[in-house]
Amino acid sequence: QEFVEVLKKARGSHGLERHEVIVLLQARGEEVDALGRAADGVRAAFLGDEVHLRGIIEFSNYCRQNCLYCGLRRDNRKLRRYRLTPGEILATARKAAGLGLPTIVLQSGEDPHYTAPVLADIIRRLKGEVGVGAVTLSVGERSFEDYRLWREAGADRYLLKHETADAALFARLRPGTTLQDRLLRLKWLRELGYQVGSGNIVGLPGQSLETLAADILLMRELDVEMAGIGPFIPHPQTPLAKEPPGELELTLKVLAIARLLLPRAHLPATTALGTIHPAGRRLGLCFGANVIMPDTTPPPYRCYYQIYPGKAGMDDEMEATLVALKNMIHSLNRRVGRGPGHSPKIQGGM
Ligand code: SAM
Ligand code: SF4
Repeated sequence: QEFVEVLKKARGSHGLERHEVIVLLQARGEEVDALGRAADGVRAAFLGDEVHLRGIIEFSNYCRQNCLYCGLRRDNRKLRRYRLTPGEILATARKAAGLGLPTIVLQSGEDPHYTAPVLADIIRRLKGEVGVGAVTLSVGERSFEDYRLWREAGADRYLLKHETADAALFARLRPGTTLQDRLLRLKWLRELGYQVGSGNIVGLPGQSLETLAADILLMRELDVEMAGIGPFIPHPQTPLAKEPPGELELTLKVLAIARLLLPRAHLPATTALGTIHPAGRRLGLCFGANVIMPDTTPPPYRCYYQIYPGKAGMDDEMEATLVALKNMIHSLNRRVGRGPGHSPKIQGGM
């Protein structure tokens, strides 16, 4: 039938039309399992069994933006705000390196307090003094000059999710910003030689399967090195508090289709996936994901980085979290990745 035909096509050529992506998104029952198996096969063939761990440091929860879905939005006056000093960021990275996390993701709200030169200095010291294998930035929309400075300071990768490929929905959910501007920045980051990460939120109010298909095709068009795909989780102190969360199964389907169309991309089993379901991350790894980003933010601050409630791993000690993650990886007959885990595209490999 149609599903089987489209799945076969997706496996072979990775060129699908929008209506074909929708056929895969409509998978039910055993079809979902078949989609997962296909994605897992592509992951194994192109990227092997390594699961890369990236330590994420959420260094500031101040944000000048007001995204309707996010708990860090500037209008959330109930949130206690914090900033890590450069010294605290470096100490956290050192601890993460000591625990066997060779790469670091620096994430924050859009916080102009960290000027481009200040952040550039932190990046330089992370790569130099601390010896971090690769630095990923995820600090939102900034100028070309800022991105250039950070790239020159040694930043390797940048995560800037496009969130939704529906321009009208984007403008509604991220007041004062546009999809076009977001995409322009992804283009700049590409020009500057970053490994580029995009991604979307699954289950946003007002999103359709057509939109999700457009999300996947956009990631393919951008030929991203990374894509973060996670479910929407309503936060009580946002305008979307009463909306239903994104569904586990739909998120897994989007992840699997992204894997089929982007065989070499690094796809994390996201924290949001682990938050909506206790086995979320494990399932993610079985539906095409090959990266996990454990939270390494120091405990006094970690609970204030409340993008959404109930974030997985909130109370755990970093050591215990890592042991549990490694056990989970081994139980799937997979291995913890070694080294910086760069995109295979830039290793001159596949
Ligand atoms: N401020 C930067 C930005 O927006 O790109 C980086 C930090 S932001 C908190 C990281 C990601 O959190 C966003 O790309 C968005 O996809 C995700 N996010 C925010 N609110 C969410 C929610 N309620 N449910 C799921 N994901 C959410
Ligand atoms: Fe700020 Fe990013 Fe949250 Fe939007 S998603 S409010 S830019 S932290």
